[in-house]
Amino acid sequence: MEKIKNFVNGEYCDPTTGQYIDNIEPATGKVYCLIPNSGAGDVQIAVDAAEKAFPIWSGMSSTERSAILIRLSEGIEAHMDEFVQAESRDNGKPVSLAAQVDIPRAVSNFHFFATAIVHYASESHQMEGLGVNYTLRKPIGIVGCISPWNLPLYLFSWKIAPALAAGNCVIAKPSEITPYTAYLLGKVAQEAGLPPGVLNILHGEGHTVGDAIVKHPKIKAISFTGGTSTGKYIAQTAAPMFKKLSLELGGKNPNIIFADCDFDDMLSTTLRSSFANQGQICLCGSRIFIERPLYEKFKEAFVDRVSKTVVAPPMDPKAKLGAVVSKPHMEKVLSYIELAKEEGGTVLTGGERVILEEPYDEGYFLRPTVIEGLAFDCRTNQEEIFGPVVTITPFDTEEEVLMMANSTQYGLSATLWTSDLKRAHRMANEIDAGIVWVNAWLVRDLRTPFGGVKASGVGREGGWEALRFFTEAKNVFIKY
Ligand code: NDP
Repeated sequence: MEKIKNFVNGEYCDPTTGQYIDNIEPATGKVYCLIPNSGAGDVQIAVDAAEKAFPIWSGMSSTERSAILIRLSEGIEAHMDEFVQAESRDNGKPVSLAAQVDIPRAVSNFHFFATAIVHYASESHQMEGLGVNYTLRKPIGIVGCISPWNLPLYLFSWKIAPALAAGNCVIAKPSEITPYTAYLLGKVAQEAGLPPGVLNILHGEGHTVGDAIVKHPKIKAISFTGGTSTGKYIAQTAAPMFKKLSLELGGKNPNIIFADCDFDDMLSTTLRSSFANQGQICLCGSRIFIERPLYEKFKEAFVDRVSKTVVAPPMDPKAKLGAVVSKPHMEKVLSYIELAKEEGGTVLTGGERVILEEPYDEGYFLRPTVIEGLAFDCRTNQEEIFGPVVTITPFDTEEEVLMMANSTQYGLSATLWTSDLKRAHRMANEIDAGIVWVNAWLVRDLRTPFGGVKASGVGREGGWEALRFFTEAKNVFIKY
């Protein structure tokens, strides 16, 4: 069976532990390769390599670093099909989604930050008659990047690209559940001429190698995307060590639909915002609130479209939904559907596992599920499910829907559907979220700040925000 390897000091290598763990294909439920079960010893070797590489990488001009990162971006593009197939197999998502979203976005992430860094300008503040201040931005040194399984290379590169562009050396860990495209990235980094030790990719479990990254004293900043409880643990560990922290955590996003919206556009977008990537996008709108005069019309049309959505093996071009990422995750989602019923909800469509023909009969396929009749403050409507499950709830006034929308511990994103411009501005201002889309969903401009409020995280990624995170500011005052 194939064994994937760590990428340390510019070379592929086995873990020092000599141990491997199973990597399961979600569409078949079968082990298809083995991944390193790395430990603290591997983190130490990677840190040693990064320490040697740092003066070389940070000493290069931003133009030189930019050229290498552009080659890295082009390298992923050149191996597009290999990355697309690997992402789909590892994660269970339709090949079409990996081809349209995941891998092109990883290409853009590297390209965006490779070019952003050569346009970066720092601030200067003049004090009339006294002197001038200017702010230097220095790379931090060695930084840790830890990413989740839902958009594997997309989110991995969203962290690594700005960290490298700013001149840091990186110790990165993808999710143990979806390691494959991060593994392939090592080859592209070699081909792009990235100096050894600048990017080190370690595979393994969060509580072992992930924890060792967070605890290593020479790793000065941690950029983490994942669950809120993991984020809380990481913050507790890293804060007393005075590490810089960026935490992108869970969500329970509202999708608020007013009766004056463009119905057809809203309906087709709401299908995507509910179920894209099997509902496993932190930005999916899992709580749908509909203004009462539109409720029955929406319910009928939405349930009809959802019930016809094709759940199929990821490589089937007709597949709109593939498999969810793992057996434990599938069981978690199913348990929330049971909870919803206990809480008084009615399953309007879906609510069950789909058993496909061999060799997919043990795959983790779920039917997209719509539930109504739940109180806004029940557990199903408050806790993150992170699967193909949405609830629908009617509302009467702006005040009422704002109260319900803002009632969770989360505040990542929100979607609003209305043709009333004043209302759009009013609501966008009042919603507890780091990102609000009006009459759209998941439109991303990489220059804009990305992140959440409340338990959805701390800090922002994207554009200058990411470059500021991965640098330290130093103010210099010169007297006239
Ligand atoms: P987890 O928090 O379980 O894991 C995220 C990453 O952290 C994985 O690489 C994991 O490794 C690692 N990890 C786990 N425990 C530790 C630890 N103690 N120390 C260091 N690293 C650790 O999240 P999931 O992978 O399950 O991802 C789903 C979550 O991510 C959802 O809550 C979702 O909302 C959130 N998310 C947030 C986004 C945002 O931008 N706000 C975007 C996408 C997802 P391993 O896999 O080996 O356990």
